[in-house]
Amino acid sequence: MDRFFHSVTLDKDKCKGCTNCIKRCPTEAIRVRGGKAVIMSERCIDCSVCIRVCPYHAKKARPDPIESIEKFKYKIALPAPTLYGQFNNLDDIDTVLTGLKKIGFDHVFEVSRGAEIISEATRRVMSEGKIPKPVISSACPAVVRLIRVRFPDLCENVLPLKAPMETAAIMAKREAHEQTGLPLSDIGVFFITPCAAKVTDIKMPIGIEHSAVDGAIAISDIYPALVGAMNKLDGHTESLSHSGIIGVGWAGIGGESAALLNEQYLAADGIENVIKVLEELEDERLSELDFIELNACPGGCVGGVFTVENPYVARARIQKLRKYLPVSCNHLSGEAIPPQLKWTSELEFAPVLNLADNVVEAMERMTQAQGIAESLPGLDCGSCGAPSCRALAEDIVLGQAKESDCIFKMRERIQSIANQLTEIEGYVPHPSISPKEGDSQ
Ligand code: SF4
Ligand code: SF4
Repeated sequence: MDRFFHSVTLDKDKCKGCTNCIKRCPTEAIRVRGGKAVIMSERCIDCSVCIRVCPYHAKKARPDPIESIEKFKYKIALPAPTLYGQFNNLDDIDTVLTGLKKIGFDHVFEVSRGAEIISEATRRVMSEGKIPKPVISSACPAVVRLIRVRFPDLCENVLPLKAPMETAAIMAKREAHEQTGLPLSDIGVFFITPCAAKVTDIKMPIGIEHSAVDGAIAISDIYPALVGAMNKLDGHTESLSHSGIIGVGWAGIGGESAALLNEQYLAADGIENVIKVLEELEDERLSELDFIELNACPGGCVGGVFTVENPYVARARIQKLRKYLPVSCNHLSGEAIPPQLKWTSELEFAPVLNLADNVVEAMERMTQAQGIAESLPGLDCGSCGAPSCRALAEDIVLGQAKESDCIFKMRERIQSIANQLTEIEGYVPHPSISPKEGDSQ
């Protein structure tokens, strides 16, 4: 596997080099070079912003194909609660779960069950008081990656617990193994994902060595077959759902926080708002809060790029469905937080935005970049292929761009060459002027 796996990729043939995406990328991971976008792999956090803003659909995410479930004898679907908001007039979650079984899965295990367990574990982490407050949710992998590359001082605030998807996968595999007697290697667990960041998180997880999930299938890929299967059920559904208001509520922004039964929280969605909150936090301006829930997608997971429904509509539908559910159906046993719910490694700063590994060298390069940036027009127009004049200056220092990539600098140079030529022209005798007698030739 590549050193960096990314679900978000570029279709070069479709890219027109319009530069729309470069300014919106939260980690300045995109440049336009030779008329095409280039993603700097080490910087990309798979937030999907570039997929949303590209007018030519040149950015796309690659989930696993539905056929990948066939590699396993026993196939389990892990539907994200977001899936329930994609269907009009749905009044029973079991219709969706039974539909999933009809399209090829042997069993379904709701991610909302894992969410209820993680909500309880989070309450315990908060009461232990070992993580500096405000504790930041680790549920959105794009946000965790953003903190890792842009907000090193906040790494210690990130909740070191597995995501509901991982927790549900562990529970589902264990349950299937006990019920079927099959070895774990024959049991495939597939997340029905609303977003690209989760696809990346399964292939290259943070905080744990390996994911317990075997693949991620996009909601949009499974949707047509699932709707067809659901329409044929004619009310004959199996009783499969086993989660409550707390777990299903995680689909929208604020759901995870509400499950903590603590009012000192803030929930923000959309990558630009997330960055504003993290900047405030870095400046120690939100110290009165206990918990911060951040989702890179607008509206939370219901706004993921693989969803098919408007996030506001999906959220309203999920609110309606929740009304008929119990508060919670899944609980932790005992007093302690089970070790299998915890991260096995700490979140570490990834200095991919630094100009050198060595601090002294990085400082020197920063000073150099500052000087170059001051000589640039400061318009941040993007015509050079970098998101800002400052970013171009850094690229120049790193040897990845030239000053002449700036069209204003290029124009200045052309103007100066033209001026010099005009000046030189003044010294060259005009061909129409005939030499006078006595002039040397
Ligand atoms: S938005 Fe980015 S990926 Fe899309 S066409 Fe423009 S430069 Fe290419
Ligand atoms: S997915 Fe996000 S971080 Fe990656 S290139 Fe696109 S906008 Fe940038």
